[in-house]
Amino acid sequence: MNFKTLLTTCLFLSACFSLRAQDDHEADSLRHQFGRMSVGSARSTATPYADTLDTANSAIKVVLYSNGTYRYVKDPKAIQDDKVFTEHWDTRSVNPYHDEKPLPDRFSLWIVDTLDSYCCPNKTRVFSKFGYRHGRRHQGVDLPYPTGTPVYAAFDGKVRVSDYVGGYGNLIIIRHANGLETFYGHLSRRDKEPGDWVNAGDVIGLGGSTGRSSGPHLHFETRYQGYAFDPTWLIDFETGTLRHRLLTFRSWYFNPNSRYVQSVDDEDEIYRTDEEERLLAEEQAKKEAAARAAAEAKAVRYYTVRSGDTLGKIAQKNHTTVRALCRLNGIKETTVLRIGRRLRVR
Ligand SMILES: [Zn+2]
Repeated sequence: MNFKTLLTTCLFLSACFSLRAQDDHEADSLRHQFGRMSVGSARSTATPYADTLDTANSAIKVVLYSNGTYRYVKDPKAIQDDKVFTEHWDTRSVNPYHDEKPLPDRFSLWIVDTLDSYCCPNKTRVFSKFGYRHGRRHQGVDLPYPTGTPVYAAFDGKVRVSDYVGGYGNLIIIRHANGLETFYGHLSRRDKEPGDWVNAGDVIGLGGSTGRSSGPHLHFETRYQGYAFDPTWLIDFETGTLRHRLLTFRSWYFNPNSRYVQSVDDEDEIYRTDEEERLLAEEQAKKEAAARAAAEAKAVRYYTVRSGDTLGKIAQKNHTTVRALCRLNGIKETTVLRIGRRLRVR
C-alpha cells in the first residue's frame, strides 16, 4: 500500500466514524424527542457494566453495573431458539402464515412483560387510519415521518424481512417473542437485515416515501399470525404511550375494517385486570427466583489450589483476606493446602 492509498483509506475511515458519531447523536436527540418509554427496570446505558450473571432461567441474565445498580435482561441468544422465531419463518414473504387457523374469540397477549421495553414509533396524530380507504384495504396506520428521520423498533425482536416489497417500498418486518409482528414501510433506507436482533428503540432505518406513497410517511402495521389489526389498540399515538402491557384481543379486531373503539377497551379492562394481576404475580415470582439465583451465584466463588500457593497468595489473588478464607472454609492459617483442593473465596 503506498502512502497516498493509506492516506485516502484513513480519511475515508475517519469520515465514516464521524458520520457514525453524528448519526448516533442525532438518533439520541430524536429518541429523546419522541419519548422512549422503558417498561420495567430502567436502562443504564451510560454506565459501564461490571459483570453478567446467570439466573435460574437460562434466558434471563442479570447485568451488574459498576455503579452498583443492576437490571435483568433477556438473553437474545436463548430467546432466539424459541419456536416463535423458527416456525413460519420466511425472510421473503410478507405473510408466511399460509395455514391460517381462525383465532380464538378472545385471548390475551403480553405486549411487554417486566423485562421488555417499548419505544413509540412516532408520537403524532395518525393521518391515515386502519381500515378501507377509497375502496382499498389499509392494514396499518400512516404516521407523518420526514424523509431521513430515524425509525425505531417498537419492541425487542428479530428482523424477519428487510426488502423492497411492491406498495410497501422499503419494508422491515420485526417478529417479537409474543408472536406479534410490526411492519415499517416506505423507508428511504433499511439498516437491518433478516436475522438481526433488535431492542426497542434501536434505529432500523430512515423514514421516506418509497413504494406506493403520496409523500414521506411511515406505514406502521401490527399483525398476529398473519392477521393485521389496528395498531391503535396497542399504542395511543397522540401521547406516544402503550395502552396496555397485557392486551386482550377479540377475534373481530382482525376484521379488515374494524378500528379501535374506546368503549370496548374500557369494558375489557375489568377482565384484563384479573388476568393481568394473575400474570403479573407469576412474573414477579419468576423475577424473585431469578434474583435469588443471581444473589447466590454472586456470593459464592471457588478457587482451586495450585502448586506454590499459600493462603496469603490465594487471598491476594482473590482480593480477600486470610482470615476470611479460614472462616469460609473452616480451616486454620496453619492448615496445609493440598494441590487441587477447592477453596471457597467468596
Ligand atoms: Zn399506510
